[in-house]
Amino acid sequence: MIELSELNVTRTRETKSADVILRRMLAKCELVTESGCWIWMGADNGDQGYGRVYLGGKSYRAHRLMYELIKGKVPGGLDLDHLCRVRCCVNPAHLEPVTNLENLLRGEHIGVATSRRGFCKNGHARTSSNLRYYEGRYFCRECERVRALRRRREKKWCPIARPE
Ligand SMILES: [Zn+2]
Ligand SMILES: [Zn+2]
Repeated sequence: MIELSELNVTRTRETKSADVILRRMLAKCELVTESGCWIWMGADNGDQGYGRVYLGGKSYRAHRLMYELIKGKVPGGLDLDHLCRVRCCVNPAHLEPVTNLENLLRGEHIGVATSRRGFCKNGHARTSSNLRYYEGRYFCRECERVRALRRRREKKWCPIARPE
């Protein structure tokens, strides 16, 4: 187990040891068994969809802290790439240390630049509360809501499509 000093976490009553932090963080995750993602249900930074955790008055990226608590320090200057493409996932097994450049190139190469910025193609934040997992994929709840609304409206206005 990693030491608090290595994480730059201030030792307070609520952050007695790395073990306490880890257990508290795990309590805030929802496990998606099919994908293996640990979806962070705590705070996020909204615009980008990354999980946030507040400790001793400081804010940390949840996935990075989780990775370091379980696997150890991320080598200096490296980013953590989400192999699962879910920004609010904090499962260390889904995270891989890469250089910043590599991270950018991968995003372009795989063609998921939009989702990697933390938004769906319609600009909704990919946060835990807005994602639904089904048969190996994540769906944006806001998009689904908009689509359902549109369908309902079309049914109402179009006499041909009126439900019997
Ligand atoms: Zn994941
Ligand atoms: Zn959406």
